[in-house]
Amino acid sequence: MVIKVTSLKTDNYDSDHRRLTTIQPKERTMRIPIIAGNWKLNNTVSESVSLTTALKPLVAGCTGVEIIVAPPFTALTSVSSAIADSNIQLAAQDVYSEDNGAFTGEVSAPMLKDVGCDYVIIGHSERRQYFGETNESVNQKVKAALAHGLKPIICVGEQLEERETGRTEAIIESHVTGGIAGLSATDLLSCVIAYEPVWAIGTGKTATPDQAQEVHNFIRGLLTSAYSAEVASQIRIQYGGSVKPENASELMAQPDVDGALVGGASLEAESFAEIVKFE
Ligand code: PEP
Repeated sequence: MVIKVTSLKTDNYDSDHRRLTTIQPKERTMRIPIIAGNWKLNNTVSESVSLTTALKPLVAGCTGVEIIVAPPFTALTSVSSAIADSNIQLAAQDVYSEDNGAFTGEVSAPMLKDVGCDYVIIGHSERRQYFGETNESVNQKVKAALAHGLKPIICVGEQLEERETGRTEAIIESHVTGGIAGLSATDLLSCVIAYEPVWAIGTGKTATPDQAQEVHNFIRGLLTSAYSAEVASQIRIQYGGSVKPENASELMAQPDVDGALVGGASLEAESFAEIVKFE
């Protein structure tokens, strides 16, 4: 069942982030916003616990939004303990497709579940770019995560050259359809899609709200064709790429933007908390 609610968002901002106009409340499907912080290759165990400890009180009163942190593997256990009594959930930054065996250096879905992970980021552009991740390996990892009760955050996104040569939709289609190949509708509903234009990650260049909305809407259309309008309307699609407290609100105001995958700004408790409180 799809429940319709009226969004209470009323503010719009210009490109300098000044309050510009008041927009009309809009109908949007009830999709719980989901804000995830990807810490990447940052933070020792003690630094991770300090960041978590600082974040907890700042977001303690936040309801109606899912809050996730994704520390490096080494800090997952400690952060899991630190968030035990909080509204913060835990994600890993990657997972291997096999459960166990002779795969030196890898970490499996049962292992992530064992340390308290709820989500796992799969197919981040940095893994595609530097570690040979492909649509096929993403798909295998997604299936392994789902088989063990982990919710995949599947990252998709075009590079600058691909956008400039008019191939954004083709790339997004291959990432989305490749990543979710063979999933039932029930499995798909456990997934989150993160649209992250590669040219916006860590560069300070955010996609405009219109650019983000255009691709998010395209992704929802792909899911409509592959499954149904009802299924597509329930899937959450995050935007990622230089999300900051200053631009989170206008991105989240887009009808098909349901959350943010945040890199740099998630490394400071205050800035991540401000993004969580985007409204
Ligand atoms: C990311 O790591 O997925 C990301 C979007 O990074 P940043 O927010 O720093 O651009």
